[in-house]
Amino acid sequence: MLLEKLTLPILGADDETDPPWGYLATLYSIVPHLIAAIAILSASVLPYLEGQTAKVAIVALVVTMQVGLRAWGDYAYRRRSDDEPLKLWLSRFVPLSLVSGLAWGSALAILYTGGSPDTQVVVLAVGCGIVQSCAARAYLAPRSTLMVIVIVTAIVNAAAISEGNWIMVPICAAYVGFLASYMVRLIAMDEKRIDAERKTRVLVKALAESNAMLVQANEQLHRHARTDALTGLENRRGFDDELHRHLERAREIDRPLALLLIDVDHFKRFNDAYGHQAGDACLRIVAELLAGLVAPSKGIAARYGGEEFAIILHDGEAARAEAFAEELRACVASLPLPARDGSAGRLTVSIGVANAKPADDERALISRADRRLSAKAAGRDRVCASDRAEPVFGSL
Ligand code: GH3
Ligand code: MG
Ligand code: MG
Repeated sequence: MLLEKLTLPILGADDETDPPWGYLATLYSIVPHLIAAIAILSASVLPYLEGQTAKVAIVALVVTMQVGLRAWGDYAYRRRSDDEPLKLWLSRFVPLSLVSGLAWGSALAILYTGGSPDTQVVVLAVGCGIVQSCAARAYLAPRSTLMVIVIVTAIVNAAAISEGNWIMVPICAAYVGFLASYMVRLIAMDEKRIDAERKTRVLVKALAESNAMLVQANEQLHRHARTDALTGLENRRGFDDELHRHLERAREIDRPLALLLIDVDHFKRFNDAYGHQAGDACLRIVAELLAGLVAPSKGIAARYGGEEFAIILHDGEAARAEAFAEELRACVASLPLPARDGSAGRLTVSIGVANAKPADDERALISRADRRLSAKAAGRDRVCASDRAEPVFGSL
């Protein structure tokens, strides 16, 4: 938790997307550490020339170990596997920064302690450079940056105090205070930004969800608008759409298409005898039968209106539309229909069949099937087929 607090906020750090990984790559980069190492080694030239070789050797060792550690960190970060969580690398960064702060601070302090005034000025300049370079990257991880700055300045100050140089203390305190106040603002701004991003993500998610619900509701509405409430078949609107679509397709690919108009015989009498509820149940049973007989690959069954149904048959099934109508008629005639008084009612249908001709539009096809159906006046329970000698789709 503390480690997380120290690294966060790193830009968008709670987000397992690309930018935080990119920012972490900058934080793990070896480059600023190489520059700092060169700067410290440059500050060691004067003490070396002054004969303080043991001190310079220790500084070189500290710098080498620090650069080695950061080189390993950079290498390990680049070689990480894809499934490693962002939080793991955030928390690993904190001890690395801590060690770096200690290493740079100690190297500077060793050079400062017992150094000539010239060396001390150079060391302070290099220290300022390191602290400034840390502050320049503070926007990536303000808290851990502040930690490094405090460590480096504290160690250099301790060295200065050990040399009797107290004037450094208030100067460094003012400097770190200034940086800290600037970073506190940075942290507050960054937290606000992260919070706003989080809220935006929540809003976008909610928007996507309500959009999906809207699409679903729309589809449902569309289905309802085309579905007959009593039978669940396509209603008149659905039938009109489907007939138009099927006619266009039949014309395009020159395949047979047939329309069956089915009228339940003497249905008024049935209602009168058994009641309207039994009549409704009866229409549902007929609809179920039609839906069972007309697989989607064969065509479409619809309730045309009242006690009338329609079937659109295409391709192979359309070519044998009359035989299909005959099977359907026989099936209905053999349906066991429960009536209100427990007796078995009997129901028959009459069917008008029309095969689509190249010049047909919907109206022409429907009126031909309807005309055939009117022939039922001569006697119910029959199939009245169109004249098969006429040219139809698929037979030209
Ligand atoms: P025909 O053999 O000449 O077709 O005679 P029919 O009685 O079937 O025809 P008619 O047009 O005289 O009457 C149709 C009947 O269908 C009248 C109406 O009450 C009934 N009907 C229409 N829609 C429904 C419905 O949704 N439920 C019920 N129960 N009856 C309906
Ligand atoms: Mg009728
Ligand atoms: Mg009827």
